Amino acid sequence: MRRAYKLRAYPTRPQEGRSVRLLADHCDLYNAALTERRDAWRMQKVKVSYGDQSAQLKAIRAADPFGQGRHSFTAQQQTLRRLNTVFAVYLRRTRDLEGKVRRVGYPRFKPYQRFDQVLFVAGDGARSEPADGGRWAHASFQAVGRVKVRQHRPVVGRAKTLQLKREHRRWYVIVVTDIEAMLLPASGRSVGVDLGVARFLTTSDGQIIANPRFLDAAQERIANLQRRKARARPGSGNRRRLRRALAKEWRRLRNQRRDFHHQTARALIDTCDALALEDLRVAAMTATAAGTVEHPGRNVAAKAGLNRSILDVGWGQFTSILVAKAESAGRRIVLVHPASTSIDCHACGARCTRPRRDTVVCPVHGALDADLNGARNIATRAGLGSGQASAA
Ligand SMILES: [Zn+2]
Repeated sequence: MRRAYKLRAYPTRPQEGRSVRLLADHCDLYNAALTERRDAWRMQKVKVSYGDQSAQLKAIRAADPFGQGRHSFTAQQQTLRRLNTVFAVYLRRTRDLEGKVRRVGYPRFKPYQRFDQVLFVAGDGARSEPADGGRWAHASFQAVGRVKVRQHRPVVGRAKTLQLKREHRRWYVIVVTDIEAMLLPASGRSVGVDLGVARFLTTSDGQIIANPRFLDAAQERIANLQRRKARARPGSGNRRRLRRALAKEWRRLRNQRRDFHHQTARALIDTCDALALEDLRVAAMTATAAGTVEHPGRNVAAKAGLNRSILDVGWGQFTSILVAKAESAGRRIVLVHPASTSIDCHACGARCTRPRRDTVVCPVHGALDADLNGARNIATRAGLGSGQASAA
């Protein structure tokens, strides 16, 4: 099983210079390999494969000992593979569209500033040293050196690949590890989970996890910065500073939210054998700007604009974190079709009315908590029974 960790890296000034050079050299290699494929096809209708190009690496390195020759051989192979993948996608799409009017764009050359990552095989030109007793973690890359890395959570498993990546002015190391599944003991709890707006989630046995407070604080700060930025003169230094401050706030929000998602998912996985959720990919496809019958509140006024973008984006990420943790713990996740999960009564199936966002009213059973009712419907639909066992 694979797990990826994206860690912030802090190269020294000279290391940063060498990292930039590493990206540039790999970019040259990528573009040269693309040229070869293009010319071979144009002039002789010959297809060049990854194997053909990889076989030339040795000669390329020998001819350029202070350039290409300094870099990790296997990392260069990865860059050639990357181009190979781009071509495979291009060829497949061309085949699929054969005879149709639409044209598929030929793979493009990459300018230096857009070529932003190099993939290394761990133990071959790259090495990761996890943090140890409060000391910094490090990652070493051939032709760059040993770079300081902030490890915000423990890296579990044996490193398989290390990626050195540039994002604007920041550097990251992405460590992909191989881990063994650690099966957790059975807990006897199986629940449906409703992800909501007013609360982050509600389980079918009545557990409620509120939206974290940092959302409100972040929303206030971001709205404030956006107002100030809108008033600042275009092209001014002030506007540039505000744009940076805004990017920083969004980044901070994303990080806080990811930590919150990891903690919340961890707690659920530790205590539940099976979890059912709505398949939000389906929900996203069926939702309209006016909201759906099932979720009249999800897309309407109360969640318009900024508020919406701050609350919304989390669900997909949370679901994938939950699925990944479930997989490595041997827990079961069931994704159910979202139609009608919150508007039908969980007890009798009758169509309810929804006078308020947080309440549905069944003609037989009266007023019910909308999220709890939704969570119970999700549990039932997933075949987990009523999902109320541990609440009894
Ligand atoms: Zn009912």
